[in-house]
Amino acid sequence: MRSTMQDAPLLIRDMVRHGQWMYADKRVFTATPTGTVHETFARVAERAERLAGALAALGVQRDDRVATLMWNNQSHMEVYLAVPSMGAVLHTLNVRLFPDQLAYIINHADDRVIIVDASLVPLLARIKDQIAGVRHFIVNGPLEDPPFALIDYQEIVAAHEPGYDWPDLDERDAAVMCYTSGTTGEPKGVVYSHRSIWLHSLASTSANSIALSDRDRCLLVVPMFHVAAWGAVYTSFMAGTELIMPQMFLQGEPLLNMIMELRPTVALGVPTIWNDLLRAAGGRSDADLSSLRMILAGGAAVPRFMIEAFRERHGVDVLQGWGMTETSPLVAVSMPPAGVSREHEIDYRVKAGRVMAGVQIRITDENGAVLARDGVATGEFELRGPWITARYYGVDAPELFRDGWLRTGDIGTLDPHGFMVITDRAKDMIKSGGEWISSVALETTVMGQDGVFEAAVIAVPDDRWQERPLCVVVRGSESTVSAEELREFLRPSVAKWWLPEHWSFVDAIPKTSVGKFDKRALRRLYAEGQLEVETLE
Ligand code: ADP
Repeated sequence: MRSTMQDAPLLIRDMVRHGQWMYADKRVFTATPTGTVHETFARVAERAERLAGALAALGVQRDDRVATLMWNNQSHMEVYLAVPSMGAVLHTLNVRLFPDQLAYIINHADDRVIIVDASLVPLLARIKDQIAGVRHFIVNGPLEDPPFALIDYQEIVAAHEPGYDWPDLDERDAAVMCYTSGTTGEPKGVVYSHRSIWLHSLASTSANSIALSDRDRCLLVVPMFHVAAWGAVYTSFMAGTELIMPQMFLQGEPLLNMIMELRPTVALGVPTIWNDLLRAAGGRSDADLSSLRMILAGGAAVPRFMIEAFRERHGVDVLQGWGMTETSPLVAVSMPPAGVSREHEIDYRVKAGRVMAGVQIRITDENGAVLARDGVATGEFELRGPWITARYYGVDAPELFRDGWLRTGDIGTLDPHGFMVITDRAKDMIKSGGEWISSVALETTVMGQDGVFEAAVIAVPDDRWQERPLCVVVRGSESTVSAEELREFLRPSVAKWWLPEHWSFVDAIPKTSVGKFDKRALRRLYAEGQLEVETLE
């Protein structure tokens, strides 16, 4: 028997219409060098309609990729609303990538238009010659001496009428795409659908997850180029949650000022940022974080001391979230279950989180056998669900899936109540301040240097950045190559923040039975203090 329900597709345009009408007076705040500006949801949605008209006039069609190279600000939000609603695909570019990676991603995604914040034009100028497929560059903000032809964002929005006729689409059509470097090899594209974004947003309004609602004002520190800002832009229009957009002012001091001035109820970002906020708040006697009902910290493990410090010093609850670019990202949040005393809540908040309805999860051993959900058996997390990716865009990566389940590369335990604890990582990467550094890319470059026989890079703990790379080197015979020389050699090939400051010279790197670098053994040697480490300034 078939149901008698209507078959209405879940489309982003309808989320936009909902917020535009139902929450017309809700506001988006954007930080600027001269103070905060704000605009209503009604106006933002109207400007999104004008933008869609402008993009259509430039020739943007169904399925065309429109990329953004932007900070968190109101214009970026307008692009988020307009591009998928008109049937095109929003591709958010990570401003922290090295130019060559950026060019690779733009070409791989076949971006037709790039909308760029004026402050990021110099970055784009460095790769302009490598991205011939891009037809139009649109700049947001005033710019003296543009290095190449740029269309002015504000002018084209003003020049077009509101009332764009959002088309009917299939809910499975592509809406947003994001590249992840969270695995080995080239960055891989993940494509979210209208449907996946809808369901993920609904889940984010659930009281068992982060319960975003029209009673909230959200400080959105997680960049809009990270997994669609953890979905918060779309959820805000669905739920009437106001947003505060910090632009590039992401240090503890300016964030503290924003919190005290605009009094958000929730804040979303990686642990490194919240550590910095703690430091800034500790240095000010008038620090006041009392408006916050919750800080959602995710993208990396959240240390116990941070959760305790926010609670004890500022009366703020930190909730941990677990997710990946491949998972939209929210899969689990560490909301303590009912009945747990205030004193024992911390034991839940330090876990990666409890899995939300809509996502299926299991852990498996190396042979793919499914392990018990007993909080003891340790294996790799695998996921299935309507907002979990089933493949990558334009590349085959069968090793990252098993029987239709996404292999996460995260290792840990699952307890009988659905709480995940992460204990290790199978993927060979370093997560520094919430951004990935590829250990393989560092190793292959260092091994290209004269005087180096072998090099292996592992993540080591760091107070400020959570993890930093340690490069372990075996010199060639007679070589006296130094850490400084190797760092200088790396400099032209990788982003500055990738450059390892920790180096260790050894006689041999431990190997696995099949002859690969045994990074677990290296990590153990480091933890036991058996590696002599030189740290550069
Ligand atoms: P995001 O932008 O959400 O950080 P990525 O795809 O870049 O997404 O990174 C996802 C990876 O980050 C996870 O597979 C895991 O290794 C790590 N991660 C995310 N959240 C947590 C967490 N709460 N605890 C430990 N590791 C985490």
